[in-house]
Amino acid sequence: MLWSKDFIPTLKEIPQDAESISHQLMLRAGLVRMLMAGVYSYLPLGLRVLNNIENIIRQEMNAAGASELLLPALQPQELWLKSKRDNEMGEVMIRFVDRKNRHICLGPTHEEVITDLIKGHISSYRQLPLVLYQIQTKFRDEIRPRFGVVRACEFIMKDAYSFDKDEDSLDKNYEIMHKAYRKIFKRLGLDFLTTEADPGVMGGNMSHEFMVPAASGEDLVWLCPKCKLVKPFLGEKEEICPKCGKGLEKINTIEVGHIFKLGAKYSSLLQANFIDADGKIKPIIMGCYGIGVSRLIAAIIEQNNDQSGIIWPMEVSPFKVIISALDVSEKKIMQKAALIYEKLNSQGIEVLFDDRDERAGVKFKDADLLGIALQIIIGKESLKKNTIELKIRRTNKKITAKEADILKQVKKIING
Ligand code: ATP
Ligand code: MG
Repeated sequence: MLWSKDFIPTLKEIPQDAESISHQLMLRAGLVRMLMAGVYSYLPLGLRVLNNIENIIRQEMNAAGASELLLPALQPQELWLKSKRDNEMGEVMIRFVDRKNRHICLGPTHEEVITDLIKGHISSYRQLPLVLYQIQTKFRDEIRPRFGVVRACEFIMKDAYSFDKDEDSLDKNYEIMHKAYRKIFKRLGLDFLTTEADPGVMGGNMSHEFMVPAASGEDLVWLCPKCKLVKPFLGEKEEICPKCGKGLEKINTIEVGHIFKLGAKYSSLLQANFIDADGKIKPIIMGCYGIGVSRLIAAIIEQNNDQSGIIWPMEVSPFKVIISALDVSEKKIMQKAALIYEKLNSQGIEVLFDDRDERAGVKFKDADLLGIALQIIIGKESLKKNTIELKIRRTNKKITAKEADILKQVKKIING
């Protein structure tokens, strides 16, 4: 992609209304723009990151045996009355009445819809277990939308649902999902913690949260610096690790995932039953598994940045490589840059070619701000010595490569 043809509105100044580092950097690097409080447009670079995150999630969900579907965002309020969550959701749920006088809400989550769907199609234990997931937009009228995409009113979630014949089988699916979650967050380049959480509004009897330590995180937890035990933060009183006796530290985290054993809560209320091997009618045993897909962009940035900007982990980098051509009026520089651009493109390597008529200083600053994992710099020096300079964004390490070796070098760095 040529920068001059793309839409990457970078900002030099720190936006006044953005409190957290990730929010500031997402605005400055041209990833998102706010339409109104809690509602964001994803610009081309932001969408690339979002797609990369979604692909990692898809790969790990599919590998764990889950099938992807897509449920509607418009839901009948009637279903929420049946599940007895209509009141509980209160004003968080966005509601309206349509022209046919149907009472409708914009889905804040999808337990009701999927249970209702499954109900009509699962009748025998032979059809179980089953795990389904979707990556979809959710709507919640949050009291206090904050920190950009971290707490938004319209956001993207991956939500998965498991259906089993009994608790033992649910335990197995739950463990498979727990493992898949650890793989996903690792591939996203995150340093994360898991805690046992309060099942709260979801109901059920067991749940785990996945938390990313970050200065701007709204969720406080106690962490043991030695054995990494995590306890929910319930009071100011200094606590001691129940495992090793060390003093616990209070840290801020962002919740990026939450998994629950729901049991028969929804299936019994919505009559999603099956006939077991013993001929008896039983409610389907369910689990649900959420990931804050759009929130993850911010969580990744919170943990991967420096004074100059974002530092994308390789797998989520919006482009793998940025080529900075330092003087667009110099024909030979542009020819050389274009040649390398074509070469990398033909190998399926995603490259952003900074072909803008800007000063070298501006290009260096913007390349660092964008955080693309690998920079290729082509200037007068390159022409003179017939070499090309590479810079690894994370380490600032510079490598001088012969032009003939460039593809080999780039592949080596990209593949770690
Ligand atoms: P929180 O405590 O942060 O409000 P939650 O318990 O309401 O989260 P769930 O209903 O379990 O969240 O949703 C699954 C995941 O979706 C959460 O772990 C979080 O990563 C993400 N998420 C929830 N609410 C929002 C929001 N308003 N904006 C962006 N992501 C969100
Ligand atoms: Mg919430």
